[in-house]
Amino acid sequence: MKKETIPLLHDHHAHVSGRAAYRDCVDLSEVKKKEKAISMINRDCSEDRINVVKGWNDSYYSFEVKEIDELPPVFIWNISGHGLIFNEKAESRFKENFDNPQIINKMYDPEWVEQNLLKVSKLMMKIEGITASKIQDTYDFLLERGIYETDDMLLPSTDTLKIVKDLGYQERTNFWADLETFGGLSEKAKDEIEGIKLFADGALGPRTAAIKERYLDGSDGVLIYEKEDLKDTLNGLEKDKISIHAIGDRAIDMVVNILAKMNKEGLEIPETRIEHAQFIDKNTAEKAKSLGITLSMQPNFSLDSVHYSDRLSEKYLKMNNPFRMLIDEVGFIPGEDLLLGSDGLPYGVKDALESSLFPEYDTQKLTLEEFIDGYCVDRKEIGSVQIIIDEAKREVFIEDIET
Ligand SMILES: [Zn+2]
Repeated sequence: MKKETIPLLHDHHAHVSGRAAYRDCVDLSEVKKKEKAISMINRDCSEDRINVVKGWNDSYYSFEVKEIDELPPVFIWNISGHGLIFNEKAESRFKENFDNPQIINKMYDPEWVEQNLLKVSKLMMKIEGITASKIQDTYDFLLERGIYETDDMLLPSTDTLKIVKDLGYQERTNFWADLETFGGLSEKAKDEIEGIKLFADGALGPRTAAIKERYLDGSDGVLIYEKEDLKDTLNGLEKDKISIHAIGDRAIDMVVNILAKMNKEGLEIPETRIEHAQFIDKNTAEKAKSLGITLSMQPNFSLDSVHYSDRLSEKYLKMNNPFRMLIDEVGFIPGEDLLLGSDGLPYGVKDALESSLFPEYDTQKLTLEEFIDGYCVDRKEIGSVQIIIDEAKREVFIEDIET
């Protein structure tokens, strides 16, 4: 057992607004049995309104249409935040209560949902609503888990920005907005936020991350943009800083190759972060490094190599989160061009450290020093976390969080 003190965390991929919006939702992320999930939804969801349920992990169970139709009006998010299912009651209530009722018909198509994920996410956040008390509660929740600063990867509206400002948390939050929300911001707000968030593919949860081989069930992943479209989008951006979600190697290659091409053609390329980059290979990593691209990755996702053995081949399970290759062979530097975060799955020091120090594969390991460089705030005076590392049990315990 080793005692250590580390600084508070800067979670480089968080969803502060999302966590606030979904604070009171039924959370299935710890539920491994369908019967339990159904009884929780029946107990805690209201028949009188649309309910959003979060955290459904489809590697444990799936729902029959009949089963979800018997529930109160619900939208159920896949734990990945990509892909959702809903019942007829939710559909008819949605049609009665929203300005754009026809959009729900499209939401039956998983590919459409993936391609319009931000629109769908913002709708779900609107259904649940964001208030000052929910935002306050979220910052408290994060700090209790050792997180002081965040990048909020999806700012849903100007209203949310105002709430965060009024509460005095703007300094601790880098906001990223999708193109639609960005377009609606004031010039001042456009300046204040960190950058624009784009998506290149889906996620492993609904098997929409664009990997080069097929998933074990034959499905093929989803690329959000055609090559030329992505190039035009990157070329026409109003802000010179972007973060682009790319999990599968097919998506990562596309992003890096387009930026390389733009660079070669003498076009200006935006300051770019790739979010997740789970299946980046060495060749592409080298190209990314030479273009000055930053990788924003989640040690927690090393666990996908365990959870998703039902859908990924051995080759891909092993390729996931290749931190050693990125740092030792390609030269990415934690805290400089390799940033670490959680995507809220889950939030906090304990899981982040355990998955960094004791992952499934040695190729996914990070040292404590690398963790601190890539995941912590660099100002020690703000606070610290006292931890105990138990090498034998491969566990990390939080002794105290000082702020
Ligand atoms: Zn995210």
